[in-house]
Amino acid sequence: MEKLSNPQVTIETIKKYDFAFQKKFGQNFLIDQHVLDKIILAAGVTKEDLVLEIGPGFGTMTQYLAEVAREVVAVEIDPNLIPILQDTLKEYGNVTLLHEDILKVDLVYLVQEKNGGRPIKVVANLPYYITTPIIMGLFERHVPLENLTVMVQKEVAARMQAGPGTKDYGALSLAVQFYAEPYIVANVPPNCFIPRPKVGSAVIRLTRWETPPVRVKDETFLFSLIRASFNQRRKTLQNSLVNGGLPVTKEQVATALDRMELPQTIRGEALTLEQFAQLSDLLRG
Ligand code: SAM
Repeated sequence: MEKLSNPQVTIETIKKYDFAFQKKFGQNFLIDQHVLDKIILAAGVTKEDLVLEIGPGFGTMTQYLAEVAREVVAVEIDPNLIPILQDTLKEYGNVTLLHEDILKVDLVYLVQEKNGGRPIKVVANLPYYITTPIIMGLFERHVPLENLTVMVQKEVAARMQAGPGTKDYGALSLAVQFYAEPYIVANVPPNCFIPRPKVGSAVIRLTRWETPPVRVKDETFLFSLIRASFNQRRKTLQNSLVNGGLPVTKEQVATALDRMELPQTIRGEALTLEQFAQLSDLLRG
Protein backbone atom coordinates (compact mmCIF):
# COMPACT_ATOMS: atom_id res chain seq x y z
CA MET A 1 0.00 0.00 0.00
CA GLU A 2 1.32 3.45 -0.88
CA LYS A 3 2.23 5.65 2.11
CA LEU A 4 0.10 8.60 3.22
CA SER A 5 3.07 10.95 2.83
CA ASN A 6 2.14 10.90 -0.84
CA PRO A 7 -0.37 13.83 -0.86
CA GLN A 8 -2.52 11.98 -3.38
CA VAL A 9 -3.04 9.12 -0.90
CA THR A 10 -4.07 11.61 1.80
CA ILE A 11 -6.56 13.23 -0.59
CA GLU A 12 -7.97 9.81 -1.50
CA THR A 13 -8.31 8.97 2.20
CA ILE A 14 -10.25 12.21 2.84
CA LYS A 15 -12.63 11.31 0.01
CA LYS A 16 -12.93 7.63 0.91
CA TYR A 17 -14.05 8.44 4.46
CA ASP A 18 -15.69 11.77 3.67
CA PHE A 19 -13.47 13.13 6.43
CA ALA A 20 -14.20 16.64 7.75
CA PHE A 21 -11.23 18.37 9.41
CA GLN A 22 -12.01 19.70 12.87
CA LYS A 23 -10.50 23.05 13.77
CA LYS A 24 -11.18 22.50 17.47
CA PHE A 25 -8.72 19.56 17.42
CA GLY A 26 -5.98 21.54 15.64
CA GLN A 27 -6.08 19.24 12.63
CA ASN A 28 -3.43 20.13 10.05
CA PHE A 29 -2.03 16.96 8.57
CA LEU A 30 1.50 16.69 7.21
CA ILE A 31 1.85 15.86 3.54
CA ASP A 32 5.55 16.50 2.99
CA GLN A 33 7.88 13.53 2.88
CA HIS A 34 11.05 15.59 3.44
CA VAL A 35 9.66 17.11 6.62
CA LEU A 36 8.68 13.65 7.88
CA ASP A 37 12.19 12.36 7.13
CA LYS A 38 13.70 15.29 9.04
CA ILE A 39 11.51 14.68 12.09
CA ILE A 40 12.33 10.96 12.22
CA LEU A 41 16.05 11.63 11.78
CA ALA A 42 16.12 14.34 14.46
CA ALA A 43 14.28 12.11 16.93
CA GLY A 44 16.98 9.44 16.47
CA VAL A 45 14.46 6.59 16.79
CA THR A 46 15.93 3.06 16.83
CA LYS A 47 14.58 -0.50 17.05
CA GLU A 48 15.08 -0.31 20.84
CA ASP A 49 12.64 2.56 21.25
CA LEU A 50 9.09 2.87 22.44
CA VAL A 51 7.72 5.99 20.77
CA LEU A 52 4.67 7.90 21.94
CA GLU A 53 2.94 9.74 19.13
CA ILE A 54 0.44 12.41 20.14
CA GLY A 55 -2.36 12.96 17.61
CA PRO A 56 -1.61 10.56 14.73
CA GLY A 57 -4.31 12.05 12.45
CA PHE A 58 -4.51 9.68 9.46
CA GLY A 59 -1.34 7.90 10.63
CA THR A 60 1.07 9.53 8.16
CA MET A 61 3.93 9.88 10.65
CA THR A 62 2.89 6.73 12.49
CA GLN A 63 3.71 4.70 9.36
CA TYR A 64 7.24 6.15 9.35
CA LEU A 65 7.68 5.64 13.10
CA ALA A 66 6.45 2.04 12.97
CA GLU A 67 9.20 1.20 10.48
CA VAL A 68 12.05 2.48 12.67
CA ALA A 69 10.83 1.94 16.26
CA ARG A 70 10.32 -1.20 18.32
CA GLU A 71 6.83 -0.09 19.23
CA VAL A 72 4.62 2.95 18.75
CA VAL A 73 1.77 4.05 21.00
CA ALA A 74 -0.43 6.57 19.18
CA VAL A 75 -2.99 8.59 21.16
CA GLU A 76 -5.82 10.19 19.17
CA ILE A 77 -8.81 12.11 20.55
CA ASP A 78 -11.03 12.32 17.43
CA PRO A 79 -13.41 9.34 17.26
CA ASN A 80 -13.82 9.83 13.49
CA LEU A 81 -10.13 9.09 13.00
CA ILE A 82 -10.09 5.74 14.82
CA PRO A 83 -11.58 3.57 12.01
CA ILE A 84 -9.38 5.37 9.48
CA LEU A 85 -6.26 4.68 11.56
CA GLN A 86 -7.27 1.04 11.97
CA ASP A 87 -7.23 0.86 8.19
CA THR A 88 -4.08 2.90 7.41
CA LEU A 89 -2.05 1.15 10.11
CA LYS A 90 -3.31 -2.40 9.58
CA GLU A 91 -0.01 -3.55 8.09
CA TYR A 92 1.97 -2.46 11.17
CA GLY A 93 1.92 -4.99 13.99
CA ASN A 94 3.91 -2.82 16.40
CA VAL A 95 1.42 0.06 16.74
CA THR A 96 -0.99 0.41 19.66
CA LEU A 97 -3.76 2.90 19.06
CA LEU A 98 -5.42 4.60 22.03
CA HIS A 99 -8.59 6.62 21.61
CA GLU A 100 -7.95 9.12 24.41
CA ASP A 101 -7.32 12.75 25.26
CA ILE A 102 -3.53 12.92 25.74
CA LEU A 103 -3.98 15.31 28.68
CA LYS A 104 -5.90 12.60 30.55
CA VAL A 105 -3.64 9.60 29.90
CA ASP A 106 -1.55 8.34 32.83
CA LEU A 107 1.73 8.42 30.93
CA VAL A 108 3.93 7.40 33.86
CA TYR A 109 1.87 4.21 34.13
CA LEU A 110 1.98 3.69 30.36
CA VAL A 111 5.79 3.97 30.28
CA GLN A 112 6.02 1.56 33.20
CA GLU A 113 3.73 -0.96 31.56
CA LYS A 114 5.08 -0.73 28.00
CA ASN A 115 8.75 0.09 28.58
CA GLY A 116 9.57 -1.10 32.08
CA GLY A 117 9.87 2.55 33.18
CA ARG A 118 12.80 3.22 30.81
CA PRO A 119 12.76 6.60 29.01
CA ILE A 120 10.69 6.82 25.84
CA LYS A 121 10.80 9.17 22.86
CA VAL A 122 7.88 11.43 22.02
CA VAL A 123 7.29 12.43 18.42
CA ALA A 124 4.35 14.53 17.26
CA ASN A 125 2.91 17.09 14.95
CA LEU A 126 1.17 18.68 17.91
CA PRO A 127 -2.32 20.16 18.04
CA TYR A 128 -1.20 23.79 18.54
CA TYR A 129 -4.07 24.76 20.87
CA ILE A 130 -2.58 22.60 23.65
CA THR A 131 1.17 22.71 22.90
CA THR A 132 2.21 24.11 26.29
CA PRO A 133 0.00 21.91 28.51
CA ILE A 134 1.19 18.81 26.63
CA ILE A 135 4.90 19.62 26.86
CA MET A 136 4.86 20.97 30.42
CA GLY A 137 2.60 18.11 31.51
CA LEU A 138 5.19 15.58 30.30
CA PHE A 139 8.00 17.36 32.15
CA GLU A 140 6.17 18.26 35.35
CA ARG A 141 4.70 14.81 35.81
CA HIS A 142 8.22 13.42 35.36
CA VAL A 143 7.26 11.04 32.57
CA PRO A 144 10.51 9.14 31.81
CA LEU A 145 11.60 10.47 28.44
CA GLU A 146 14.78 10.85 26.44
CA ASN A 147 13.59 13.44 23.99
CA LEU A 148 10.56 15.07 22.41
CA THR A 149 10.65 15.98 18.74
CA VAL A 150 7.59 18.01 17.94
CA MET A 151 6.06 20.32 15.37
CA VAL A 152 4.87 23.52 17.02
CA GLN A 153 3.96 27.04 15.97
CA LYS A 154 7.13 28.82 14.80
CA GLU A 155 6.87 31.58 17.44
CA VAL A 156 6.46 29.01 20.20
CA ALA A 157 9.62 27.19 19.07
CA ALA A 158 11.49 30.51 19.15
CA ARG A 159 10.25 31.19 22.69
CA MET A 160 11.33 27.76 23.90
CA GLN A 161 14.86 28.28 22.59
CA ALA A 162 15.29 31.97 23.53
CA GLY A 163 17.95 33.23 25.95
CA PRO A 164 17.98 36.22 28.38
CA GLY A 165 17.65 39.73 27.01
CA THR A 166 15.81 38.73 23.82
CA LYS A 167 12.19 39.58 23.01
CA ASP A 168 11.15 35.93 22.90
CA TYR A 169 12.62 35.11 26.32
CA GLY A 170 10.02 34.39 28.97
CA ALA A 171 8.43 31.93 31.37
CA LEU A 172 8.13 29.25 28.65
CA SER A 173 11.85 29.51 27.75
CA LEU A 174 12.85 29.02 31.37
CA ALA A 175 10.35 26.25 32.09
CA VAL A 176 11.46 24.26 29.03
CA GLN A 177 15.18 24.89 29.59
CA PHE A 178 14.91 23.81 33.22
CA TYR A 179 14.04 20.33 31.98
CA ALA A 180 15.58 20.03 28.54
CA GLU A 181 17.98 21.33 25.92
CA PRO A 182 16.06 22.81 22.96
CA TYR A 183 17.20 22.63 19.35
CA ILE A 184 15.19 23.96 16.39
CA VAL A 185 15.47 21.33 13.68
CA ALA A 186 13.60 22.99 10.81
CA ASN A 187 11.13 25.68 9.86
CA VAL A 188 8.10 24.31 8.07
CA PRO A 189 5.89 26.45 5.79
CA PRO A 190 2.06 26.14 5.69
CA ASN A 191 2.08 24.38 2.29
CA CYS A 192 3.47 21.22 3.92
CA PHE A 193 0.08 20.62 5.58
CA ILE A 194 -3.50 19.94 4.60
CA PRO A 195 -5.40 22.11 5.39
CA ARG A 196 -2.78 24.87 5.48
CA PRO A 197 -2.39 26.46 8.93
CA LYS A 198 -2.54 30.26 9.17
CA VAL A 199 0.78 30.32 11.05
CA GLY A 200 4.32 29.18 10.31
CA SER A 201 5.56 26.01 12.01
CA ALA A 202 8.84 24.62 13.26
CA VAL A 203 10.15 21.27 14.41
CA ILE A 204 11.89 21.47 17.77
CA ARG A 205 13.72 18.74 19.64
CA LEU A 206 13.84 18.93 23.44
CA THR A 207 16.45 16.60 24.90
CA ARG A 208 15.87 15.91 28.58
CA TRP A 209 18.91 16.86 30.69
CA GLU A 210 20.61 13.90 32.31
CA THR A 211 21.85 16.23 35.01
CA PRO A 212 19.63 19.27 35.55
CA PRO A 213 21.42 22.60 34.92
CA VAL A 214 20.13 23.97 38.25
CA ARG A 215 18.78 22.56 41.48
CA VAL A 216 16.46 24.43 43.82
CA LYS A 217 14.95 23.84 47.25
CA ASP A 218 11.40 24.29 45.95
CA GLU A 219 10.57 23.78 42.25
CA THR A 220 6.99 25.02 42.63
CA PHE A 221 8.23 28.28 44.14
CA LEU A 222 10.80 28.70 41.35
CA PHE A 223 8.07 28.44 38.72
CA SER A 224 5.76 30.85 40.58
CA LEU A 225 8.69 33.27 40.77
CA ILE A 226 9.38 32.95 37.05
CA ARG A 227 5.73 33.42 36.12
CA ALA A 228 5.38 36.49 38.36
CA SER A 229 8.59 37.99 36.91
CA PHE A 230 7.22 37.93 33.37
CA ASN A 231 3.59 38.77 34.08
CA GLN A 232 4.33 42.45 33.71
CA ARG A 233 7.37 42.50 31.45
CA ARG A 234 7.88 46.24 31.56
CA LYS A 235 8.05 46.46 35.36
CA THR A 236 11.15 45.93 37.44
CA LEU A 237 11.61 42.46 38.87
CA GLN A 238 11.07 43.87 42.35
CA ASN A 239 7.66 45.36 41.48
CA SER A 240 6.56 42.33 39.49
CA LEU A 241 7.30 40.00 42.39
CA VAL A 242 5.77 42.11 45.14
CA ASN A 243 2.62 42.90 43.11
CA GLY A 244 2.49 39.45 41.53
CA GLY A 245 1.00 37.64 44.51
CA LEU A 246 4.23 36.03 45.74
CA PRO A 247 4.60 35.84 49.53
CA VAL A 248 7.64 38.17 49.55
CA THR A 249 8.21 41.75 50.66
CA LYS A 250 10.01 44.50 48.78
CA GLU A 251 12.77 44.42 51.41
CA GLN A 252 13.32 40.68 50.99
CA VAL A 253 13.66 41.07 47.22
CA ALA A 254 16.01 44.04 47.69
CA THR A 255 18.25 42.06 50.05
CA ALA A 256 18.32 39.05 47.71
CA LEU A 257 19.24 41.24 44.71
CA ASP A 258 22.02 42.85 46.76
CA ARG A 259 23.41 39.47 47.71
CA MET A 260 23.37 38.48 44.05
CA GLU A 261 25.10 41.80 43.18
CA LEU A 262 22.29 42.70 40.79
CA PRO A 263 20.88 46.25 40.39
CA GLN A 264 17.56 46.98 42.15
CA THR A 265 16.12 48.17 38.82
CA ILE A 266 16.74 44.93 36.97
CA ARG A 267 13.92 43.34 34.97
CA GLY A 268 13.07 39.65 34.91
CA GLU A 269 14.01 39.31 31.25
CA ALA A 270 17.68 39.95 32.11
CA LEU A 271 18.06 37.02 34.53
CA THR A 272 19.44 33.63 33.49
CA LEU A 273 17.95 30.35 34.69
CA GLU A 274 20.85 30.03 37.15
CA GLN A 275 20.07 33.48 38.57
CA PHE A 276 16.37 32.66 38.91
CA ALA A 277 17.34 29.49 40.78
CA GLN A 278 19.63 31.44 43.11
CA LEU A 279 16.95 34.07 43.72
CA SER A 280 14.37 31.37 44.38
CA ASP A 281 16.56 29.74 47.04
CA LEU A 282 17.38 33.11 48.66
CA LEU A 283 13.70 34.12 48.88
CA ARG A 284 12.61 30.68 50.02
CA GLY A 285 15.42 30.37 52.58
N1 SAM B 1 0.09 13.49 13.14
C1 SAM B 1 -0.84 13.89 12.12
C2 SAM B 1 -0.09 14.46 10.96
O1 SAM B 1 1.01 14.95 11.15
O2 SAM B 1 -0.57 14.42 9.84
C3 SAM B 1 -1.88 14.88 12.64
C4 SAM B 1 -1.37 16.11 13.34
S1 SAM B 1 -2.60 17.32 13.72
C5 SAM B 1 -1.63 18.78 13.80
C6 SAM B 1 -2.95 17.08 15.45
C7 SAM B 1 -3.64 15.78 15.81
O3 SAM B 1 -3.85 15.74 17.22
C8 SAM B 1 -5.01 15.59 15.19
O4 SAM B 1 -5.13 14.30 14.70
C9 SAM B 1 -5.99 15.82 16.36
O5 SAM B 1 -7.23 15.17 16.21
C10 SAM B 1 -5.16 15.28 17.50
N2 SAM B 1 -5.54 15.80 18.84
C11 SAM B 1 -6.02 17.04 19.15
N3 SAM B 1 -6.22 17.16 20.46
C12 SAM B 1 -5.83 15.99 21.02
C13 SAM B 1 -5.81 15.49 22.36
N4 SAM B 1 -6.19 16.26 23.39
N5 SAM B 1 -5.39 14.22 22.59
C14 SAM B 1 -4.98 13.45 21.53
N6 SAM B 1 -4.98 13.87 20.25
C15 SAM B 1 -5.39 15.12 19.99
